[in-house]
Amino acid sequence: MIQVSEKCVGCGKCVSTCPFGALSLVNKKATASSACTMCGACVSVCPVKALSLPATATASQNDLSAFKGVWVFVEIGDDGKTQKVRSVSLELLSKGRELADQLGEELCAVVMGQGIVKFMAEISSYGADKIYAVNGPAYRDYNTAAYANAMITLINKYKPSAILYPSTYVGRDLAPRVAAQLFSGLTADCTNLSVADGLLISTRPAFGGNILADIKCPDFRPQMATVRPNVFKKAVTRPGTMAKIISEPIAIPTEAGKVRIVSKQFDEVTELEKLDEAEVVVAGGRGMKDAAGFAVLDELAAQLGGAVGASRAAIDMGLQPKEKQIGQSGVNIAAKLYIAAGISGAVQHTVGVEHSDVIIGINKDANASIFNICKYGFVGDARTLLPKVVDGIKKAKGK
Ligand code: FAD
Ligand code: SF4
Ligand code: SF4
Repeated sequence: MIQVSEKCVGCGKCVSTCPFGALSLVNKKATASSACTMCGACVSVCPVKALSLPATATASQNDLSAFKGVWVFVEIGDDGKTQKVRSVSLELLSKGRELADQLGEELCAVVMGQGIVKFMAEISSYGADKIYAVNGPAYRDYNTAAYANAMITLINKYKPSAILYPSTYVGRDLAPRVAAQLFSGLTADCTNLSVADGLLISTRPAFGGNILADIKCPDFRPQMATVRPNVFKKAVTRPGTMAKIISEPIAIPTEAGKVRIVSKQFDEVTELEKLDEAEVVVAGGRGMKDAAGFAVLDELAAQLGGAVGASRAAIDMGLQPKEKQIGQSGVNIAAKLYIAAGISGAVQHTVGVEHSDVIIGINKDANASIFNICKYGFVGDARTLLPKVVDGIKKAKGK
């Protein structure tokens, strides 16, 4: 936590600055509580320079050899009707298993929530050796302070070497909080993870996506990364095996009480979520030209029970909303069938679709790069070809 030196004159200026309510005046001297996240916001307001952040925080960088094991934060999703393990968590467990094997270390899952016992078998089958379970009504809904406190408590107790978080709303909120509090690093939205010389190598686009940077964290622990859905494939590596479950009853910190969920409302599934999890995706690019071109794609997607996506060029032309963009700076998909119509196949697009099982490309240009990743390719005008496909499907269905 923040350090207050003898110089403090008790002016109180820092107290109102702290966004976490961690400072108070005790006997005319600033005193920090455990709510301090070491954000540093108070340091510059002190007129006598009495506040400083510790040069290093916690034991995280003192003895690196004490840190062992790969952890995955397993997020439980809730759509208002059912709770389930989010698919991206299973993808991370699958990748985590691979990394842990390469390091010769354990793979552990951390799961928080209420009634989470029912998820243990599924989490185990994706390769976890151990599961740290923080169970209880107070953990039913995500709460930044409660989850971060529980995560930090577990990290300080068990000292993992690396932690993977899903790059979801929850993961993107939790991981930076934990990283800041432990004074460790975090690589966001990684597109690949590997191991070299015992270190986690987190790969992500940098400089506007023009290069792929390999980022490592040699001096601090844990090494941490967030990963978007559909970057890695799910793999059941240990069917029928049960991980060792370690129940961790962690008390809720007082600052968690500052946020109360008064009511919950669940929106209809958005297009973004549909794209993320859709088994069939039909996407259009600049080659579909206008709204009429995309209307055909809507019809085809409806016939196939799929979702519509687009290339960035089509989004830039205003043919689809931004959340339908597929690729490096949009959504990653892992569909059973992906149809790319009038899309050239730039790497920034294909990186978001390469985990799809069957890819079909339709392009006027026989040399278009999209054909390099296609199982089936059609050279021709998608705007005249696809209406015929839609008619054919309707006829086959007897409509
Ligand atoms: P074009 O490259 O213009 O290709 C149109 C294609 O349609 C051509 O191959 C043409 O032969 C074909 N065509 C034309 N008419 C027809 C027709 N009637 N029938 C059939 N085919 C036809 N792009 C993304 O998609 N997603 C991203 O997330 C993304 N992120 C990016 C991030 C960065 C940092 C950068 C620099 C770029 C990014 N891009 C992204 C842009 C990417 O580089 C390409 O510019 C974009 O994917 C091109 O879109 P397109 O294939 O629709 O258009
Ligand atoms: Fe508050 Fe941040 Fe100062 Fe800690 S470092 S006391 S959290 S303002
Ligand atoms: Fe003490 Fe500085 Fe805070 Fe004033 S701003 S109470 S001097 S630490």
